[in-house]
Amino acid sequence: MEKTLWQLNQLVEERQDELLELVKNLVRFQTPSPPARNTEEAQQFIEQFLKEHDFNTDVWDVYPGDPNVVGTWKGEDPETHQSLIINGHMDVAEVDEENESWKYGPFEPVAADGRLYGRGTADMKGGLAGALFAVKLLQEQGIRLPGDLIFQSVIGEEVGEAGTLECCKRGYSADLAVVVDTSDLNIQGQGGVITGWITVKSPQTYHDATRRNMIHAGGGVKGASAIEKMTKIIEGLQELEKHWAVTKSYPGFPAGMNTINPAVIEGGRHAAFVADECRLWITVHFYPDEDHDMVAKEVEDHIRRVADADPWLRENPPLFEWGGTSMIEDRGEIFPSLDIEENGKGTKVLQTAHQDIFGQKAPISMSPTVTDGGWLGDAGIPTLIYGPGDLQNAHAVNESVSIDQLVQFTKVMISLIYNWCSTEREED
Ligand SMILES: [Zn+2]
Repeated sequence: MEKTLWQLNQLVEERQDELLELVKNLVRFQTPSPPARNTEEAQQFIEQFLKEHDFNTDVWDVYPGDPNVVGTWKGEDPETHQSLIINGHMDVAEVDEENESWKYGPFEPVAADGRLYGRGTADMKGGLAGALFAVKLLQEQGIRLPGDLIFQSVIGEEVGEAGTLECCKRGYSADLAVVVDTSDLNIQGQGGVITGWITVKSPQTYHDATRRNMIHAGGGVKGASAIEKMTKIIEGLQELEKHWAVTKSYPGFPAGMNTINPAVIEGGRHAAFVADECRLWITVHFYPDEDHDMVAKEVEDHIRRVADADPWLRENPPLFEWGGTSMIEDRGEIFPSLDIEENGKGTKVLQTAHQDIFGQKAPISMSPTVTDGGWLGDAGIPTLIYGPGDLQNAHAVNESVSIDQLVQFTKVMISLIYNWCSTEREED
């Protein structure tokens, strides 16, 4: 097999143009999110590709116009051999062509100066295409894997719509999952994110002229502006954020990554009223050893105490709504965190595959952003993030990926898929 893997690596070099054509094909499908609901044709292309390469496919709408595609390449001896999930998202970051100066059209991919340009080349159609091309070459060599290979092309990642969570809920599982999202070929885990809404609401609505009665001596009205009360809550959040920055840490992250961002504020009716409602949308980042429920509860406990120290808020405590299933549909999202098992079996096999190509181990690090890896980890699947492209390019104008990195990534995937799915499962 050593020889075959070597031959396959040669083939990746020789057929680099074909690999690039595959990435370009994916980039030409315009799948920015927002607006989303535009991945159908791209996903049909993936479905067709998987069918042509011996996969059983399963396609279902997560939202109308945004289907997930899962293909299974059934192993020859799946009962006793390890299975692998390869996961990637088909949606790409939004594009505002009128106000952004793209050197080449964002959906008209161009190869130049050793790089491939176009929206999604780094995040993450390059990763999807590299993994698909790896599968194609393995199959062309007549290789049959003993373990199952499950390929997931999901939707919604860019706006917190968990296409990946839907795959987990549908029952897809494996002994290892690799999310081929932008990691600059580092093996990565990630912190998590949960968004929440904090609402301050007055039981009464007052005319603007009543303000003097609620703020001056002898006024006699026990009322408050929800906007002014929200400032206390924002200060409380800042105190907690500082406390976390000082007391919590996690290897691989700079101190103070666990931020609480007051991202959006909405409140008041118009200038003739005292504001009777104010809503604050916050983004909370947490470390891999924390989970989103625990972190949300910490925020709530602290803010309730802040409210208890205020005579009006004590009687009109703030309300909390956490998470959500889509930034578009219900203005909320959750990305669970993902820890890395440095000595895990999957980490070792991926490191060896990487070392065979690069002569040194893949760096292990923590992603400064979030991916769908958290959902797979949350479902109990050992999961690694490993893909071509860097974060300076993800979401950027003139997004691009190094062609050499794309080629090397494809080789690593060939070795990973072959080695992982050919290994017998250990009984534990
Ligand atoms: Zn991504």
